[in-house]
Amino acid sequence: MLPFSEDWYLTWAPNIHTSMFANVYAFLETYSDGLDRVDLLTRAYGLYAEHFQMQGELLQMDLTRAWTFIRFRDAGILRLAGCTRCRGKFVAHAHEPSHSMVCGICRPPSRAGKTKAAAKAALERSVALAQAA
Ligand SMILES: [Zn+2]
Repeated sequence: MLPFSEDWYLTWAPNIHTSMFANVYAFLETYSDGLDRVDLLTRAYGLYAEHFQMQGELLQMDLTRAWTFIRFRDAGILRLAGCTRCRGKFVAHAHEPSHSMVCGICRPPSRAGKTKAAAKAALERSVALAQAA
């Protein structure tokens, strides 16, 4: 997979993160008059980062990845498609049929969340909880 392949956005954790960013971006695009593309990008990215950092999650996307996603979306390569189970909107290939799409949260892969980074983040969360108690 190339560093900036559109397929990166379809892998499990990056897809969940990108979908959160993309939904925020689409909301701001629809309801915020007068924001240019740079404002939309930085505000949507800031809200995305804030959300995941509050949950103690490692960020999957940097600002460059976020910008690249917008370029793929505007070029008609990627889009938001609705999950048939939870009705959430998730990043998908633009030309893939979406009538049977199930998102990565409703159907996580068997190895989901079992990376070294996820184990380290879980350990840090439990240490923080133990210190807070
Ligand atoms: Zn779902």
